[in-house]
Amino acid sequence: MGKCRLFGKKGLFLSLNESDLCRICAVVVGQDVERSAQILKESMELVEKTKNPDTLMSRLDLVESRLDALIEYETRGIPTLQPVPSELKAALTADRGRILSRVAAELTQAALAKAALSSSSKRARTAVEKAQRTICDMGGRYGHPAELEDSLDKLARYLDRAAEGG
Ligand SMILES: [Zn+2]
Repeated sequence: MGKCRLFGKKGLFLSLNESDLCRICAVVVGQDVERSAQILKESMELVEKTKNPDTLMSRLDLVESRLDALIEYETRGIPTLQPVPSELKAALTADRGRILSRVAAELTQAALAKAALSSSSKRARTAVEKAQRTICDMGGRYGHPAELEDSLDKLARYLDRAAEGG
């Protein structure tokens, strides 16, 4: 007797595909995987090029939730993507520090450039503190990756110097 791998539907005449899915589930899973693959591709492209921390974090979250949904299939033995979703998720988690540090470095550079051009030392400090806060928030959400330290050090050094200089 056939048994569909997704919902466990059984039937003597249930016809299953090569992944042990009934016809209805095969279509549903196929569409879901196709859509997820598209979202993962678009999101990862954006993640690699955006300068906006909010865009970065919302896309990282989206990718993670899509991968979690695909991992559900994987744990039921239903093939989806290659490499498998659990490997993709592990690779993304390992790479997250690098991804975050690129945006943090750009934010830092922009804040320090703005501070250098600012006519008021108060405005300069505000720009640097804002970048510092944003990077701290980013780090806080992802377990404070060490790759953010360099940017945070640069901002802290600026603020120390500004405090000494009055
Ligand atoms: Zn089914």
